[in-house]
Amino acid sequence: MSKHILEAKGVKKVFPGTVALQDVSVSFDEGKVHAVLGKNGSGKSTLMKIFSGVYRATEGEIFLDGKKLNLSSAESAIKERIVTVYQELSVIRDLTVAENLMIGKLPLKRKGRIDWAKVNQKAREILEYLRIDLDIKAYVRDLTVGQQQLVEIAKAMLANPQVLILDEPTSALSDKECENLFRVIEDLKKKDIIILFISHRLQEVFKIADQVTVLRDGHLVGTEKVENLDSAGLIQMMFGNV
Ligand code: ADP
Ligand code: MG
Repeated sequence: MSKHILEAKGVKKVFPGTVALQDVSVSFDEGKVHAVLGKNGSGKSTLMKIFSGVYRATEGEIFLDGKKLNLSSAESAIKERIVTVYQELSVIRDLTVAENLMIGKLPLKRKGRIDWAKVNQKAREILEYLRIDLDIKAYVRDLTVGQQQLVEIAKAMLANPQVLILDEPTSALSDKECENLFRVIEDLKKKDIIILFISHRLQEVFKIADQVTVLRDGHLVGTEKVENLDSAGLIQMMFGNV
């Protein structure tokens, strides 16, 4: 079977008064962590939101496994198994870990009662599968931001993604929490998923990514294997000749 591949071809995105992306053509294949790097405002989130159905490209097209995608909403992207963990967390603080994971797909027993045993079992299963050590009965408000981020990722994984987009997942994490997250991402690589890891921190790219795509002022600077790069090279790609 051939590898799964997500592509953008000639993507442009115009907001009133801003050209956020200009002629971006790039492809991402499975089994790797693809970092998308660029300073703030370079267009990273805009590109991800085009892949996740939140925005429509002004020009250009996106493809998954060669099939042109015509995404009209975040739901339509999830149907194509493109699942995004956004920069802003969306967990519900006053629900437990299990409830957050299973919300929207709560299993019912007869008489329409929620089957809590099944909720807990499924929540436990996904956390075990991802080797995430969390108490499913804990309230999300009592977790660290890093743990909340892991709940978001576990929830994304329940949607059975072909493409998993993590938009700046480390921005609020401690070093220890980052290590934990990176371990989970390393595991995901083995599961035939296309992983996009958005960041504006170069050190992370060296730690977790196999390949890096750099955006600058809405333009694609290029894509390189991380093993062929050093910090100076990456800084040059991010900021141009300074
Ligand atoms: P990054 O994620 O790399 O920080 P963004 O994709 O969020 O960058 O933003 C790229 C550019 O597009 C910025 O100039 C930003 O101000 C602009 N932009 C992003 N979203 C919107 C929006 N919804 N409306 C208007 N301008 C936007
Ligand atoms: Mg962003």
